[in-house]
Amino acid sequence: MPRKILVTSALPYANGSIHLGHLVEYIQTDIWVRFQKMRGNTCHYVCADDTHGTPIMLRAEKEGVTPEQLIARVWQEHFDDFSAFHVNFDNYGSTNSAENKESAQSIYRTLKANGLIEVRSIEQYFDPVKNMFLPDRFIKGECPKCHAKDQYGDNCEVCGAAYAPTDLIEPFSAVSGAKPELRNSDHYFFKLSDPRCQNFLREWTRGGSLQPEAANKMQEWLGAEGENKLTDWDISRDAPYFGFEIPDAPGKYFYVWLDAPVGYMGSFKQLCAKTGIAFDDYWKQGSDAELYHFIGKDILYFHALFWPAMLQHAGFRTPTKLFAHGFLTVNGEKMSKSRGTFITARSYVDHIKNTEYLRYYYAAKLNGTMEDIDLNLEDFVAKVNSDLIGKYINIASRCAGFISKKFDGKLGDCDAAASSEFRSAFNDNEIARCFEERDFARALREIMRLADMANQYIAEKAPWAMAKQEGKEAELHVVCSTALTLFRDLTLYLKPVLPELAAQVESFLNIAPITWSGAWQPLPAGHTINTYQHLATRLDPKLIEAMVAANQESLKPMTDSHSETRHAEHQQRQIEPIAETINIDDFGKIDLRVARIVNAEHVETANKLLKLTLDIGEEKPRTAFAGIKSAYDPEKLKGRMTVMVANLAPRKMKFGLSEGMVLAASGSEPGLFILSPDDGAQPGMRIK
Ligand SMILES: [Zn+2]
Repeated sequence: MPRKILVTSALPYANGSIHLGHLVEYIQTDIWVRFQKMRGNTCHYVCADDTHGTPIMLRAEKEGVTPEQLIARVWQEHFDDFSAFHVNFDNYGSTNSAENKESAQSIYRTLKANGLIEVRSIEQYFDPVKNMFLPDRFIKGECPKCHAKDQYGDNCEVCGAAYAPTDLIEPFSAVSGAKPELRNSDHYFFKLSDPRCQNFLREWTRGGSLQPEAANKMQEWLGAEGENKLTDWDISRDAPYFGFEIPDAPGKYFYVWLDAPVGYMGSFKQLCAKTGIAFDDYWKQGSDAELYHFIGKDILYFHALFWPAMLQHAGFRTPTKLFAHGFLTVNGEKMSKSRGTFITARSYVDHIKNTEYLRYYYAAKLNGTMEDIDLNLEDFVAKVNSDLIGKYINIASRCAGFISKKFDGKLGDCDAAASSEFRSAFNDNEIARCFEERDFARALREIMRLADMANQYIAEKAPWAMAKQEGKEAELHVVCSTALTLFRDLTLYLKPVLPELAAQVESFLNIAPITWSGAWQPLPAGHTINTYQHLATRLDPKLIEAMVAANQESLKPMTDSHSETRHAEHQQRQIEPIAETINIDDFGKIDLRVARIVNAEHVETANKLLKLTLDIGEEKPRTAFAGIKSAYDPEKLKGRMTVMVANLAPRKMKFGLSEGMVLAASGSEPGLFILSPDDGAQPGMRIK
């Protein structure tokens, strides 16, 4: 019985370009969907642009267009980028659609009828110049913890503290620069704290729909039994807002994160209208269809808590599974505009052209877990050239010519002994299992093992030598025909990853589109193939260099810094060896104190140093020179607490006397990080 499967990828926000970090998810999903379709399952893949919210509204205003014009333009860009990477949605919609509006409003009405919506007045910052309430990201001010200036309303990028916008010191509107006023407004809440939601989520998150590491995270967020850690979710925003109005609540709009996941339904509805699929077969409670959401680990909260709770209490089925993945790093570091590794999909296409190379590389790294994956550009070139070209394409390029030249393009018999040897060494079900479990890395290792065997067979038989010998024609015919059948099988297994190349191979071999069930059936003797044309070329490292250089040149202000941090994280690194063991008395000799940085300034003529004035509770503050100029703006250090060595012998320097040393962490990669004590520590406290 074929399975009925509905698959989604997270909706990209219509406020920026698709980059290589995004593509980890879409390529991964697309490979999985293509695999399911090749297996004969009924599988639909839908997605949409996520189009609502204040950032879209403000950006449209800045560009002098309507939000509708902006999102239409970005939709086309996104769609073209995905198409270029062969990401083949069955429907690619927009959350700003009639279908989505209808679904969002109907879900809301049902939740309300079930007593799960509550209205509460909340106090919030209001921009009196722009006449709008300000989302957290649009309020800036001084961090209440480290006193860094110009920090967002939800967290500090200098010290990492999370807080409410009302905690900011001297807040200002990032939209108009005006001083915001606190005003009251009625907000609509989805009552996640209701015991019905808590109990349901406790059960659902443990029911096998989440990867183990995600399930553990959810238990943390849910708290222990009876702890009731979930708070109600604020689902409304005040006008002006680009989004859907809440029914019977004039001037109130659904928060973008409410109608974003509903966009999966909206997009699927459009597919149903086009094809006649019954929507309820996939979405009503008790449906026997499977529903899978591929997402980044950063949006688990929305998909593992809010979304299933909404669905459950609005009468819909919940997801079969969430497939969360990690972030992308490039050359072991988070994507960076200054290093030229913040690479857009468009830039990749412009420079490298062949997008299947990236699909292959990502597949070789993806293993179905939430671990980050690294795009090492050197390794990328090496892997494409050694595996794809050197092992796979090579089989066809070495054997096809003889079939055309010597046998009029007609295949001969296959080598029965060799074929059965290959077949017994190779487990078809294992490959299928790896694809099913999204362990594409392992699937590709198996496939490349078969490629190695095929190449070994060709090397042993040496068709190029046979071609020069009298009386070897029959054997040459068998060897080349066998190799091309193996090439067809390799193509079958690679087809979910390399759909375009597979189509070229099908045309070259003159065969119908390959399906999974066609494996290991010899291409029949007498079958005519087409003349071999170049299928793929080696990847030239110069193209990569040019792409990185181009992305460095186009360095712009860091408008995307938020998404940059969302989609990239530090990965595990090698650490410096641990120093020689000391005893507690050795450690006791070091007097470490909490210090307040009273003042910080540049030292003229010193490239690396900042002059710090440190209060450790003594009568007079101390002066210390710290080699942290590369990492810190002195303005942002003022008022911050840190840790210093207080009993280090004073050192006379060119610039003055240094009366202590501030501690900072560093490793093999760039970056320098001074220490901070936890909240409440006072200058002069000893660290022991
Ligand atoms: Zn801070």
